[in-house]
Amino acid sequence: MELYKFLPQTNCKKCGKPTCMAFALDLLKRKVKIKECTPLVEEDKYKEKLEKLKELVGDEEGEEKELRINVNEDDCDGCGICVTVCPVNARYCYSTLSGKAPEYPPDSHQLFVVKKGKCELLALEHCRRIAAEGRERECRVCETYCPREAIKIEYV
Ligand code: SF4
Ligand code: SF4
Ligand code: SF4
Repeated sequence: MELYKFLPQTNCKKCGKPTCMAFALDLLKRKVKIKECTPLVEEDKYKEKLEKLKELVGDEEGEEKELRINVNEDDCDGCGICVTVCPVNARYCYSTLSGKAPEYPPDSHQLFVVKKGKCELLALEHCRRIAAEGRERECRVCETYCPREAIKIEYV
């Protein structure tokens, strides 16, 4: 709704989406760019909305950005909570479901592991934020549950 507010809300379909709400959802998932809404970019009356939307999306050109999940080694104390709560780890590394360390050799989908007392990110490409075409999710579980605030999800 936050992104939708700053779209023209005319459902003109020029972006190829059936409604402005559908466009807003794809914008949230970074599957479309702001400039694909041509009325918003071209018509003066939407200038203010365009600026607001650029601020919210966090990228002036609406270009795609690369996902980074940074683990700050200095802050991480190796508690292993991220290993257990990451839904990808839980799904593909059954040992983590019961709170155990993942089995070795690491499964190809395993995202987090704790080695020598520090969390290590193994396979970012399987993160729910980017995996499986059209099924990306706005997951932020690892960042939210890390008690030391050592994990930061960013787009750069
Ligand atoms: S082009 Fe813009 S105004 Fe038209 S439907 Fe798409 S998002 Fe809505
Ligand atoms: S949850 Fe945070 S502190 Fe615990 S292992 Fe993971 S990154 Fe380190
Ligand atoms: S964002 Fe979600 S899927 Fe991605 S690494 Fe963090 S917990 Fe796992």
